[in-house]
Amino acid sequence: MKCEKYLELISMYLDKELDRIFLDDLEEHLSLCENCMAFFKTMKKTITLSRTYYHMKCCKVPKSVSTHMFYHLRIIYKKEKI
Ligand SMILES: [Zn+2]
Repeated sequence: MKCEKYLELISMYLDKELDRIFLDDLEEHLSLCENCMAFFKTMKKTITLSRTYYHMKCCKVPKSVSTHMFYHLRIIYKKEKI
């Protein structure tokens, strides 16, 4: 279950909380692992979209909603792996 570790790193990376030390490790894994890359792209798109909406001020996505969304995406991701 090596990918589990990278899911954490992806979420930290997208929150801009990822340490440089782990960045190379994560990028290397993303280049090798299709599942994590797909997860990364989905998350990135979701975050970009919610930021766009936030800046347009047409709708605000509360932190609790985005956390909730992320949590559910992880569950879906885990189910697909089984
Ligand atoms: Zn992976």
